[in-house]
Amino acid sequence: CGIVGYLGKRDVTRFLIEGLHRLEYRGYDSAGIAVGKDGQISVRKKTGRVGELAALVDTSPVSGTVGIGHTRWATHGEPNDSNSHPHIGGDGSLVLVHNGVIENYSTLKQQLSQLGYRFESETDTEVVAHLMAHHLAEQVKLGSDPTDVETCLAAIELTLKKLKGTYGVAVLFRDCPDTLIAARNGSPLVLGIGDDEFFIASDSSPLIGYTDEVVYLADHEIAVLNAEGMQVIHRDSGRQAPNIQTLNQVS
Ligand code: GLU
Repeated sequence: CGIVGYLGKRDVTRFLIEGLHRLEYRGYDSAGIAVGKDGQISVRKKTGRVGELAALVDTSPVSGTVGIGHTRWATHGEPNDSNSHPHIGGDGSLVLVHNGVIENYSTLKQQLSQLGYRFESETDTEVVAHLMAHHLAEQVKLGSDPTDVETCLAAIELTLKKLKGTYGVAVLFRDCPDTLIAARNGSPLVLGIGDDEFFIASDSSPLIGYTDEVVYLADHEIAVLNAEGMQVIHRDSGRQAPNIQTLNQVS
């Protein structure tokens, strides 16, 4: 029900936890984060309040300068730790968080199970994670470089084409460790632009105090965030110049 993300120069954990706290009003049953460092992605997730996730992260810390976070409002699969987001795709080639509902998840799940993908949750979201990992692996088999952002982008585009339903997603790719990718169809996502840093959130509340420069992602758009800047790609019309707006910070 809420998404946050960060890529930049500060340690990400504080922004993620604080951002999830600020999204608490939207309602949720579980929360989690994934943080990338040195090509490794660590996941911490838990049923219950953001405070419980924060306590888990205190006892089992993670650090890094890129990460994603999620508060879940369960639609497929009961609220428990394994159904909580983030979800891992394939053998760990990517980790993602998702808001929304994937209507054709059971058909996709069947196909992926036949291909040998093992599911650890009852969520519709894990289907997206494995499908994306599958497309990524296929691209690599065809000769694409997994460390090239274009390969990740191709995997996302092929995956989104197969989904019916609504999504806001934020994805970390193991082999593109300094890139954060988000996409939306039906679930809101705001991108914040800071000084050599980027933020993602379901609404602007987590961004207050960090930046007032924002881009509202539109349906069928994908945003790629890394040291080279922000790229926005629309499914039909291709690369877009991001429409940067100033957040009206009313307190
Ligand atoms: N459908 C997903 C799930 O049940 C995402 C729910 C949400 O938007 O939080 O896990």
